[in-house]
Amino acid sequence: MIKTYDVVIIGAGGAGLRAAVEIPKEYSCAVISKVFPPRSHTGTAQGGVCAALGNMEEDSWENHAFDTVKGSDYLGDQDAIEVMCQDAVRAIIELEHMGMPFSRNEDGKIAQRKFGGHTKPADPADPYGKRIPVMRACYSADRTGHVMLQTLYENCIKNQVSFFSEYFVTQLLVENGVCSGVVAMDISTGEIHTFHAKAVVFATGGYGRAFQITSNAHVGTGDGTNLVYRAGLPLEDMEFFQFHPTGLWRLGILVSEAARGEGGILKNKDGERFMQKYAPTVMDLAPRDMVSRAIITEIREGKGIRGSDGTDYVLLDVSHLGKKVIDEKLPEITGFARTYLGVEPTKEPIPIQPTAHYAMGGIPTDIDGRVFANEKGDIIKGFYAAGECACVSVHGGNRLGTNSLLDIIIFGRRSGKAVAEFIKTADYSPLPENTEEQTRKEIEALKTSTGKESILNIRTELQVMMMNKCGVFRNEKELKEGIEELKQLKERYKNISIQDKGNIFNTDLMEAIELGNLLDSAEATLYSAENRQESRGAHTREDYTNRDDENWMKHTFITKANGSEPKITYKPVVITRYKPMERKY
Ligand SMILES: Cc1cc2nc3c(=O)[nH]c(=O)nc-3n(C[C@H](O)[C@H](O)[C@H](O)COP(=O)(O)OP(=O)(O)OC[C@H]3O[C@@H](n4cnc5c(N)ncnc54)[C@H](O)[C@@H]3O)c2cc1C
Repeated sequence: MIKTYDVVIIGAGGAGLRAAVEIPKEYSCAVISKVFPPRSHTGTAQGGVCAALGNMEEDSWENHAFDTVKGSDYLGDQDAIEVMCQDAVRAIIELEHMGMPFSRNEDGKIAQRKFGGHTKPADPADPYGKRIPVMRACYSADRTGHVMLQTLYENCIKNQVSFFSEYFVTQLLVENGVCSGVVAMDISTGEIHTFHAKAVVFATGGYGRAFQITSNAHVGTGDGTNLVYRAGLPLEDMEFFQFHPTGLWRLGILVSEAARGEGGILKNKDGERFMQKYAPTVMDLAPRDMVSRAIITEIREGKGIRGSDGTDYVLLDVSHLGKKVIDEKLPEITGFARTYLGVEPTKEPIPIQPTAHYAMGGIPTDIDGRVFANEKGDIIKGFYAAGECACVSVHGGNRLGTNSLLDIIIFGRRSGKAVAEFIKTADYSPLPENTEEQTRKEIEALKTSTGKESILNIRTELQVMMMNKCGVFRNEKELKEGIEELKQLKERYKNISIQDKGNIFNTDLMEAIELGNLLDSAEATLYSAENRQESRGAHTREDYTNRDDENWMKHTFITKANGSEPKITYKPVVITRYKPMERKY
């Protein structure tokens, strides 16, 4: 069945909803989401969204932009970073006016707190000299994403957006550089629909579920990035995957950096505050790539604590902050520690380990969300992307905490505005022939397969492999082994079968398709990581330990070739005012 909308947005997280708010009511706009919209991963964001409001101490957008460039290890495009940081202050006030209930300071203004990598000059006369942490993260206790998503959802309802909740997108319709829509399955009935649109926006989130220990929700399976990859279009900088330093041990559930922003301290088994050694000026508030490396290094040197199952962790101590601060500012994350690990954070430290958290890479776009067809900058007509699935690139090699909630509202809005302008004159492009055939065939093949391979086994093996061979530290030998293992897993995937042959809420079927997406996201990540022979941001190579600006100051573009190995090309990094420097904290 064909449904026709001026605009179709895939994804009801912050990026998708913020884009939808910009589509004028006189146009029809559909938002499709595989989960009920407010259950999107944005709703789990804890710590905050940053902007140099200067409500607690003096700050400037230029400070923020410099931190973001430095945090990205000079891989972020500086023109895009300037756009984001400059617009951040307006964007936060706008959210407040939309109804988002921020926590307040004593003056009744939006409260702000410290977060990793967000700094200001210790001496204003020396802007690029010694820098100290600054309070820049705006927050609602430790439920910032939850209130942001609810606020945006309400505004979408007000804007008469049509929601297709629990629809699963299986195909992107692009032909000859033009996008005409998507194909999706209604999860509740199994019916297949074609959505014909003048403009399509992908806001499908990340793919943390490719890793064994992850903070990401089960829906984070990289469907959008994979549909783009499968359509023969490039993905950018897929080797850069962020490990957040503080996931609950063994579970990966996030303990927000807000815990350290409020004064929490990392300790090894000897009770030593080890970040003193690795980042003497900002210590526990160093950027995430550095803290994750520090934790793994401590563990490798035998200074971790061995758990009953033989895996190691270090400790995050917030007990000295006192019950009042913990209950008011960190209620949710300390609740997780109580519930899942049986630890009382007001009295004892929390066992933590790095957890796969955020995809810096993704679908390449310009600053208005237009998707690039190649590294030369050609555009796919009618196709946009925003949020974690996209790569603008503002995060480069490593994202700073609280810059993602900012990214989704800034670039979600910009994509929405660009689409609103585009549809004023654009017409519907013709749909390709037999649009639904591919999806129908794939689903039929999965339902009738008698293959002996299990989805659970392949997924678990993939996650363990990605954790071990493509994690915080990487090297050529292990990446090559990872690529070989992946090839075998993809072969075995051809032989999976599902037990549920029905049409209604067939989660077996969805998991099968999602596993295919995870395998392809992992492929793009492994090949890009094997190819980049340097260490930059979250991509740390044990065999190439230095950053190599001469040869590698460039974005990776990876494209799936038919049958053979993926193809890699490059796009230059945009540098405006910040010259690459050594990255020390
Ligand atoms: C636990 C946690 C805490 C975090 N805390 C912070 C924080 O404090 N500050 C910060 O800046 N960042 C934080 N982040 C990162 C940030 O929250 C995310 O990067 C961001 O919210 C992603 O938003 P999004 O709109 O791009 O995607 P998401 O919110 O992930 O939404 C993706 C949407 O796409 C839909 N979708 C995906 N595939 C399909 C498909 N095949 N068919 C239909 N729909 C589909 C989903 O249903 C969903 O609606 C956190 C992340 C996590 C995991």
